[in-house]
Amino acid sequence: MFIRSLNEKVQRRIRNYGFRLTPQRAMILNAIARRGEHVTFDEILHDVRNVAPSVSAATVYRNLDTFSRYRLIHGNEVAGGKLYELASEQTHHHLICHKCWGDTKIEAETVRKLFTQLDKQTGFLVLGEHYVFMGLCADCRKQDGDTLGRFHTHPKFRSTSSKRSKAS
Ligand SMILES: [Zn+2]
Ligand SMILES: [Zn+2]
Repeated sequence: MFIRSLNEKVQRRIRNYGFRLTPQRAMILNAIARRGEHVTFDEILHDVRNVAPSVSAATVYRNLDTFSRYRLIHGNEVAGGKLYELASEQTHHHLICHKCWGDTKIEAETVRKLFTQLDKQTGFLVLGEHYVFMGLCADCRKQDGDTLGRFHTHPKFRSTSSKRSKAS
């Protein structure tokens, strides 16, 4: 009853890996699925606590780690923190602009040639199915050229990092 809202690929992996989907795990997975792409830890925790106020941050964190290992979710480090999303049915990658934080989704096919070339040159097989490439989008390059200046933090992590630095 819990997994019907998750996509086919995730459902298949849950079955194939014999992953034990407890009601709590289902709740966390569904919270990620409902938010769509680029979900932060704080957003997941917020949504989960709306349903079950007593769930601890450590529990959510531990489960996210487990989901990643079972490849049920993607967690990508993006300029100041991790962004999560449910493992997608359609393999894709992201181009994220460091200045305007615009996000362009690209098909797996677009970088497959590069991976094939890497295999030929080094014998290394790239297995990751979800990459985030950070850079500058066409519009920002037109405005400011190809320079970035100092490294910026993703807007979703700005309040968290200031909270953290105040606490320490
Ligand atoms: Zn994605
Ligand atoms: Zn941009």
